[in-house]
Amino acid sequence: MTSWRQPLPLLFVLPFIGLIMWLNIKMTRFCDSCGKMTVCQNILNPFKFCPKCGTEYDSKHKNEEG
Ligand SMILES: [Zn+2]
Repeated sequence: MTSWRQPLPLLFVLPFIGLIMWLNIKMTRFCDSCGKMTVCQNILNPFKFCPKCGTEYDSKHKNEEG
């Protein structure tokens, strides 16, 4: 009756897990100044500054690109 034993759901579950892990990595920031780890809750409006010391996260990239 049921088809839960088929491997087809894995084709959806594995990419989903990979996506979640990728988002966790993308939304986790480490402060260069104080080393505080910050996990952003809203991917559309990510943190730009460290909530602990106020250092801007992407300040290095701005210097490289001019
Ligand atoms: Zn900091």
